Amino acid sequence: DVKVNGSNSWSIYTPEMNDKMIEKIKIENELRKAIQYKELTVYFQPKFKENLSTIIGAEALVRWNHKELGFIPPSTFIPIAEETGLIFDLERFVIGEVGKHVQQWERKKLSFGRISINISHLHLYQDDLVQTIDDVLSIYNIRASSLELEITETAMMDNELEANMKLSLLRDRGIEISMDDFGTGYSSLSYLQKLNIDRLKIDQSFIKEMEHQNGNEAIVSMIISMARHLNLKVIAEGVETLTQKELLSNLGCLEFQGYLGGRPIPADEFFAEYLASGKAS
Ligand code: C2E
Ligand code: MG
Ligand code: MG
Ligand code: MG
Repeated sequence: DVKVNGSNSWSIYTPEMNDKMIEKIKIENELRKAIQYKELTVYFQPKFKENLSTIIGAEALVRWNHKELGFIPPSTFIPIAEETGLIFDLERFVIGEVGKHVQQWERKKLSFGRISINISHLHLYQDDLVQTIDDVLSIYNIRASSLELEITETAMMDNELEANMKLSLLRDRGIEISMDDFGTGYSSLSYLQKLNIDRLKIDQSFIKEMEHQNGNEAIVSMIISMARHLNLKVIAEGVETLTQKELLSNLGCLEFQGYLGGRPIPADEFFAEYLASGKAS
């Protein structure tokens, strides 16, 4: 079938594309139900300081285990959530879950550093983001200093002025802002200097190839020294091997996240493994 789609471009629908669209619609419908019936869960992946025995916090990562379809990765359903507007409810759910767990951990007088939440570029520019965060702080009566938001470099670049205003409001409350997947978005030095952020999160693609491609080590080294000059913290994500970790340490990186330190795990396991045992700083 050949079909004209409004503008002067042509789309050709093949049977496979049709299957893909049906699959997408199925995922959209199932995701809507999963959010409604709270069938999503939030996992926590530890973040470490230099010695890998002290955690400085964790990243909250959404997980979806569907009754029939099994485990569906975020890389499949987050883009669909963004296309369909479900991302707002999904992220409100994640923010609420984080609030609930942080409340329990704070009540136990544990120091677990900060729990970071990924925020979609769509949510960043939504009017209610700051209000949603304020709500969770007051409903669960938790400290803003227990939270961090991860926003991708490209998301911040969509509308620098508006992003910067939002980020400033959030930082005023004591929430830290990290620029996720840093290095993939071509932001300029002068832009970085003006931006209201606390930390660069080096994209894992650079870490992965660091041992094998000298070019990547040079890029990572440059990011770390740039961060130092701009007075920003820096964390490496996707650290899987001791060699990578040592290379990063030698380059001056002080914070690490990746399978080497620990995988994302459910809240109760995270509590048992890292909080109850006093591994938190
Ligand atoms: P991200 O925010 O960059 O998260 C890091 C991803 O890398 C996570 O994948 C994590 O499980 C994975 N990872 C961590 N350490 C390692 C490692 O050592 N090796 C490898 N190969 N991977 C590692 P995950 O959980 O599948 O999430 C993928 C992406 O989906 C995230 O990338 C984020 O962009 C998005 N995402 C996940 N949860 C949420 C959420 O609650 N809201 C939004 N908006 N996006 C989310
Ligand atoms: Mg992230
Ligand atoms: Mg990332
Ligand atoms: Mg990513």
